[in-house]
Amino acid sequence: MRATMMYEAGDVRIENIPDANLRDSTDALIRITRACICGSDLWPYRLKQADGRGQNMGHEAIGVVEAVGKDVRTVKVGDVVVMPFAYSDGSCEFCHEGLQTACTHGGFFGNSEVGGAQAEALRIPHADGTLYALPVGEDDALMPSLLTLSDVMGTGHHAAVVARVGRGKKAAVIGDGAVGLCAVIAARRLGAEQIIILGRHPDRIELAKRFGATDVVSERGEEAIARVRELTGGFGVHSVLECVGTDQAMATSMGLARAGGAIGRVGVPHYDAIPQAQPMFYRNVLVGGGPAPVRAYIDELLPDVLEGRIEPGRVFDRTVDLDGVPEGYRAMDARESIKVMVKP
Ligand SMILES: [Zn+2]
Repeated sequence: MRATMMYEAGDVRIENIPDANLRDSTDALIRITRACICGSDLWPYRLKQADGRGQNMGHEAIGVVEAVGKDVRTVKVGDVVVMPFAYSDGSCEFCHEGLQTACTHGGFFGNSEVGGAQAEALRIPHADGTLYALPVGEDDALMPSLLTLSDVMGTGHHAAVVARVGRGKKAAVIGDGAVGLCAVIAARRLGAEQIIILGRHPDRIELAKRFGATDVVSERGEEAIARVRELTGGFGVHSVLECVGTDQAMATSMGLARAGGAIGRVGVPHYDAIPQAQPMFYRNVLVGGGPAPVRAYIDELLPDVLEGRIEPGRVFDRTVDLDGVPEGYRAMDARESIKVMVKP
């Protein structure tokens, strides 16, 4: 079968690899009908060192179940399913607590052990706990929005939940990539009265406004902090949704949060220590977040997608087939595209 492999920074190839197959009795095999390229895929695209081996890429997809192992109970052949970016057994302590990304038998897609979703097919470990059957056909018009339940919409929602967004609260979103834009949707959905997006790219800002952003701050660093304070009566926001993962983004987040506020971080941190520990302490700012348990959030977000109350699929501005995936990486890296959908 054909799949996306990354060898080193900038070197993404579509290659023939051994077909995905069932391995364990709890596995399912899915034929990928939609996948996409993630902002987090751009980290290895920029930084990966050559080690002689390719990395299987992709962790977001919708597919059709082609086969199931003998112990699979809740999904069946022919089901249209969305896969969260992490697999989970659905039965351990953490899964019961709704933190499937800490599943004791779980792990992440997009590596040589379990394979990647930017491919024709994929083996899904712990299919019952991982996959979520969708009540639509494989070419439903809602596919782009349903696909975001695999990662970016659930991740944006996680930022909002951890940052304690609620009715009447003021929120700021750092990051105008697909996750940041979905975080705007999430903040609005949870009732924030003011949603400030930090960004400067006109297309992205336009989409953020359509999703519910009330203010735009295009300054950076200290100037951005001053501007947000100005927009919020001098105190800053209750909730910062940090969707980037750099130390600069975290330092800015610290400056935006009002005393007693919370920062929800969902950008994979590329720093060792959280900056601004002293102001964080004296101003009682809470910092939380991590890999979103998107499997838990599908129940809550799916009805809003099916009934058209939210349209996170608007973050996709380009569609490619497998051969177009390397160009898709290039376009996202160059910020010519917000998010690229893959139709294998
Ligand atoms: Zn579990």
